[in-house]
This record gives sequence, structure tokens and C-alpha cells, in this order.
Amino acid sequence: MRPLAAKSFKSIPGKYYQTPKELWGFQSERGDGPPAAIARRFLEANRETLGITSALDRLDVRRVIHGRGADHVILQQLWRRRRIHRAYVTVHIGRDRRVYLVKSRAVPEDVLREAEDARIGSASAVRAALAGGGRGRAWVVGKPELLWYPARRLLHPAWRVRIHRTRPRAEVITYVHAVTGHVISRYDNLAAATGRATVFLPNPMARARSFDPLDDSDRVRRPPATAYAAVRLTALRGRGRVLDGRRVTTRLTRRRLRSARLDFSLESVRAGFEEVSAYYHVNEAIAYLEGLGYRGRRRLFTRPLAIDARGTRDDNSWYSPGERTLTFGTGDVDDAEDGETLLHEFGHALQDAICPDFGQSAEAAAMGEGFGDYFAGSFFAARKPRDYRDAVMTWDGARGDGSPPCVRRLDSTLTYESFDHRATADEHENGQIWSATLWDIWKATGRRVADRIIIESHFQLDGFTSFARGARAILDADRNLYRERHAAVLKRIFRRRGIGPVE
Ligand SMILES: [Zn+2]
Repeated sequence: MRPLAAKSFKSIPGKYYQTPKELWGFQSERGDGPPAAIARRFLEANRETLGITSALDRLDVRRVIHGRGADHVILQQLWRRRRIHRAYVTVHIGRDRRVYLVKSRAVPEDVLREAEDARIGSASAVRAALAGGGRGRAWVVGKPELLWYPARRLLHPAWRVRIHRTRPRAEVITYVHAVTGHVISRYDNLAAATGRATVFLPNPMARARSFDPLDDSDRVRRPPATAYAAVRLTALRGRGRVLDGRRVTTRLTRRRLRSARLDFSLESVRAGFEEVSAYYHVNEAIAYLEGLGYRGRRRLFTRPLAIDARGTRDDNSWYSPGERTLTFGTGDVDDAEDGETLLHEFGHALQDAICPDFGQSAEAAAMGEGFGDYFAGSFFAARKPRDYRDAVMTWDGARGDGSPPCVRRLDSTLTYESFDHRATADEHENGQIWSATLWDIWKATGRRVADRIIIESHFQLDGFTSFARGARAILDADRNLYRERHAAVLKRIFRRRGIGPVE
């Protein structure tokens, strides 16, 4: 690959080094081979422009992320075989296999050469990290790591020590200078802030009982002040004043909300209400799963679930299994204003987290839709007026028929016999057989038991599963969690719905 010609690209100079931290506004020659090989050849060809001449053979490929429109190669700089904290180089390659962007936090040669060697061992570093801060118990998590810590124009040897504390509960990552023994930085990985917001729980009518969502000319009315619930937004990281949390981030949303006081109370007509609503409801749903026992090493989501709260003008929302993100549309009533629409889509994310690529056969796809409706209905049942309990997405479906109007109901009387096996069949329609079956279980056993056995059943399913296998998995989950306490009632429900065999 030829180096980029002078002036054929734009660059952003680094703050402390003479080397650029970003090159952009160019298209490289077309590369071949896998993305990591293209990235390496590009870096080799442009090492002088980037000022990473000697770093080149010390860049380790850490990750390759395959996006829909581009591949992103992330490399980590090493020096004397140790990691340099935050010294990443990323190379971004378009579908046409041309590099179009490179970012570099690599530390240049002259700075590397001046770095001192470590003089204190891990035991002293741990003592320094444990000293000061908090009561209760504290212990080291994992193994302390010796690395390089860049600070302006110097590279310090440092120990990275992770400490868990009980009071106040915190997991602190501490960097201890490996020559002086002083603490360079401390960062609490669990630190969480709480914000405030207003949302619908899960729709305006649940609180404003007499509110009629449509006016005489069938336009959607503005909900009254009494339709809002004041809630707390938990597990916020509190950095950047945006909706970034331990469980959820709205980072994919354009023109994100910011609030220095973390007060996100808005009316639904204001842009940003959907973003707040999405953060709140999905965060609560994941917190509920943690409460069911899916936490610690059993946690289902290993990183914050990313949401685009206004990702399309269509009246449509989706979960992307490839990117593991949620997107909500703003056609008609904004989808992310309705707590149940949010949790229906979250249902897909939850299934995919347990059982990757769930829903690849017609029956599995119908189970995916049915589960999302069930999960939303189960989650909010106690918040809704009695005549709303068997219906889901009544705000999103304000224009729908029936009483109350809704997108779908959970009390279909259909049995498996009515499953439409034609290629043109709609999985949401077929899904109502499954959601009604799950809803029967909910009514017979109560929310907690039903949610536990239904969620747990997914661990033994695959993407091409069927109603019959889904039913047997629920029975197995009941055996594993409750020693078959509900077997008789479950079998009766499956039999009545024509799902089986389950014996
Ligand atoms: Zn769906």
C-alpha cells in the first residue's frame, strides 16, 4: 500500500505529542486480506506521518468490530512487553476495503525511551491501593498488572490494582506509581448517580384514567400532567451529564439530552422524552432480571445495552442481533414513549443475550414476538387498570380497535392448530398463540414464578426451536427451579393450547 500523499488528508494534532491523533478526509488505496492485515499495511505505509515508526511492531490487534458499513480494527500499543494505558490505535476500513480514518493515542518513540523502570513490587502497590477510603471489608480482585501510565510528556511505570470494598460498595481501579509508590489515579467502576425523570408507567391512561387518547378528528391528544409518573433514573455513570449507565446507554441517539443536575423531567411533546423513557424502562427491566438472580457471573448483559431512541421516522422499532442494539421509531406515537413497546423490543434483546440468534424458524420467530408481548404485559400488570391487563402497547396502539385500543392482546383463545405455516404468515399474529400460553402460565402461577421459569427455559433453546420444545423447556425449568411444583398446571395449559407432546 502506498503512503498517503502530503495534503491529501486532514489531521488533528495531538495535545502533548508532536504526532497527529487523527487522520481523516482521505481514501487509501484498496487493501486486500482480512481487516487486521489491511490495517497493518496501512500503518506500515504511513508510520512516519503518524509518528509511530518504532511502535509499529509493538501494536497488538485487540479487537476487530464488524459494523454494517465498515470494519474497525483496534490495536493496543505495548512497550517492553507491557501495555500502555489508553494507548490505542484504531483503523477504520470501508466496505470498499479502503481505509478512511485512523485515530492514534500511541506514545511516540522519544517519550518511550525516557521511561523509568519499575522499582516497587505488587505487594507494596496493593498496600498503597488499600490505604485510605471506606470502612467495611476490602480485597483485591484479579491480579495486579504492571503497565505504563502516560501523563502528558512522560511515561510512568504503574501498577493497576482493582479493589472491591463493601462500605460504601465500590470497585475501585487504582493506578500506583511503580517508582514512588504514590497513587496516580483512582476510579470507581461501580460509582452510580441517580437522576430524575417523568415517564408513562407504562402509558398515559394507566394514571390519567379518564384520558381519551384520540380527539374527535382522530388526532392523538397531548396527555395531561396527571398522566406522568415521577421516577428515579438509577445506575447512571454521572459523567458527561448524559444518559449513560451501567446497564443502558442512549449513546446512539442523535442530539442527546444533557442535564448537569441529572434532572430529565420533560413532557412527552419535548424532544428527548423518548430517550429518557427508553433509558428508564430498559434500565428497570435489566435491574428486575438482576433481582431474579441474573447478576454477577450469571448476568445476561455484559455491557450497557445501546439504544437509539429516535432511529427512524417510520412507525417501527427493532432489535439488531448483529449490533446488539435497540432502535425505536417516531412514526405516529413515538414508540419509545410506550413502556410496553420498549419492553417488547427489549424482550428480543433478552432472548438473544441468552440464546444467540433466536427466532430463525417460523415457530421460533412467533415465540420471539409472543415472549416480548408477554414480558411487557407481565412487567406492567400491577401498574395498569384491570381492563388494560390483557392488552399491551395501548399508547403506541392508540389508534387501534378494541377496548382498550392496543397493538396486541395477551388473551387470544387460539390454539396451536391455528398456527399459520404459510411463508406469508405474520410472526406477530402467530405469536399471539404463544403469548396467550405464557399469559395462562402467568395467571396460574403468578408473576415471579412465571417470569422465572419462562426466562430460564431459554437457556436450553436454540434459534430454530418450536412451540413443543419451548413448552418442554418450561417444564424442565420448573423442575430445576421448583422441583416440578407447577408441572401439572403447566401440562394442562400446554394441552389446552394444543402444544406438545409434553409428556
Ligand atoms: Zn418484535
